[in-house]
Amino acid sequence: MKRLVILGSTGSIGENALRVVKALPGRFQVVGLAALRNGPRLLEQAAEFKVQDLAVGDPEAAGWCRRTAPTGLRVHEGTSGLSAVAALPEADIVICSVVGLAGLEPVLAAIRAGKRIALATKEVLVAAGNVVQAACARSGSELIPVDSEHSAIFQCLLGHPGFGPCGSSAGTAVRRLLLTASGGPFGLKPEVDFDRVTVAEALQHPRWNMGRKISVDSATLMNKGLEVLEARWLFDMPVDRIDVVIHPESIVHSMVEFADGSVLAQMSLPDMRYAIQFALTYPDRVDGNLPTMDLVKLGPLTFRSPDRGRFPCLELAYRAARTGGTLPAVLNGANEAAVAAFLEGRISFPGIWQTVESVMERHQVMPDPDLEAVVEADRWSRAMAGEVSG
Ligand code: NDP
Repeated sequence: MKRLVILGSTGSIGENALRVVKALPGRFQVVGLAALRNGPRLLEQAAEFKVQDLAVGDPEAAGWCRRTAPTGLRVHEGTSGLSAVAALPEADIVICSVVGLAGLEPVLAAIRAGKRIALATKEVLVAAGNVVQAACARSGSELIPVDSEHSAIFQCLLGHPGFGPCGSSAGTAVRRLLLTASGGPFGLKPEVDFDRVTVAEALQHPRWNMGRKISVDSATLMNKGLEVLEARWLFDMPVDRIDVVIHPESIVHSMVEFADGSVLAQMSLPDMRYAIQFALTYPDRVDGNLPTMDLVKLGPLTFRSPDRGRFPCLELAYRAARTGGTLPAVLNGANEAAVAAFLEGRISFPGIWQTVESVMERHQVMPDPDLEAVVEADRWSRAMAGEVSG
């Protein structure tokens, strides 16, 4: 029996993680849950899974939970509360699926406590990959990807000499990583006028049902750019050996091209439970009652190049990845701020990449940043994003 903490349990990944737990009775016990504001759902989850420790990011929502919760339930508050739950002595695995860099401190707390991390929150690696990997190397914590593309690559590399779940690579045996992208709602629609794109249209993902921030990132292709940076850290791979290919059917979740020209791919139906379940049961494979894929019924699988001119976020992410230092944290912070501004109707859809680019151009890059420098670059980039987008 493995004991789990789920940070972001009321979100899309968090709810799917709880479905995985339910589908595998006797394997997992949930010991901690965390969210930002959704107290009512958090208390329902705590009652259903008999959880004793909750963390609530927002102080007002934490107060409501404390007043409403049955006796015996501990309600921790704020970022320090999330970190406390992430480091609970009884926990074995911490699933991190909060949105954005808010996941950084709790993930580091879990790593310091030696937990296995099932990581969905890509922004943590994008902004602070060197800090996170150094922390894993010190504590021996395993970092297992939940993002479907990285789970695919992880699965293709497993068993390869030298490869392990702590950021170690398969060395020169790997020629290239190929990240697949659905293309989001606009990837296959060259006629769409980006200046007129509404929030509802940007959130209309053709294949995946996800939270609002990642849905907008998928629409701009920034999500794929963030995934390039995530892969660079997870698999210790130079960024110029990480490519992106559009695959609208979302069946092949990513591929590894080896030195001999062979390509391994991992496939499943587009449902995050496959990747979540594997991150939790790794290295075992078990039957969690997930639907079986019928390749004949699925029909053709297609692949094409991304249109980098129409989707500048991809190039901005490669630029940040090649430059390194604090620039990826700045890309991420500016993007988080710009996506929030778009969702609130303050900037247009193209305003997202225009903001990110302006902020990156104004940044004085610091090489090899420590945690403090990453946090400062993140703070600076959010403030600057507010200034440049007016
Ligand atoms: P959602 O918006 O659906 O859920 C986010 C969850 O995190 C909610 O439980 C939310 O609480 C909580 N949360 C948000 N901010 C904070 C904070 N500051 N402190 C504490 N809790 C917080 O997001 P997703 O599940 O879609 O995505 C989560 C992460 O996983 C993202 O980084 C995303 O990029 C990544 N990911 C998601 C995929 C997907 O299919 N959804 C696929 C691959 C990666 P509340 O409900 O109270 O607001």
